[in-house]
Amino acid sequence: MSCHASKDSLHAVGMKVTKAREVLLRVLEASDHPLTVDEIYDRLAQPRPGRPTIYRNLERFIQEGWAESFVDKNQIQRFLRCGTTEHHHHIHCEKCQRTTELDGCAMTKALSQLERQCGYKVTRHQLQIYGLCPECQKALALK
Ligand SMILES: [Zn+2]
Ligand SMILES: [Zn+2]
Ligand SMILES: [Zn+2]
Repeated sequence: MSCHASKDSLHAVGMKVTKAREVLLRVLEASDHPLTVDEIYDRLAQPRPGRPTIYRNLERFIQEGWAESFVDKNQIQRFLRCGTTEHHHHIHCEKCQRTTELDGCAMTKALSQLERQCGYKVTRHQLQIYGLCPECQKALALK
């Protein structure tokens, strides 16, 4: 993942940065793969907030563009820290869970074409790309 928002930028967007939120962001940042709420819970030191509080803060992070969530192949929701609040997408390795943040959006052209076709004005979209990362491809080739 690329550069992470600093503490300053948290203040810049006007959200109250509590100690608990900082800790939560750091847990997400420290992981090389997106975490489930249970995994996040396990990584928090005592006294830790309950799962509903963790979940609520994660939802808030998503609203602010600091984090994103997606559903993995087992239909479990996972959360990851975003390096940018600009619109972007992720590619997720289905074998090792590693997730890479992609620059920009490859959908722009296709969406304006779609708008012309269906007459809708597109306001937002989501795109999750699943695959096998280079390391997992190598590991498979060695077998
Ligand atoms: Zn991201
Ligand atoms: Zn992988
Ligand atoms: Zn996009």
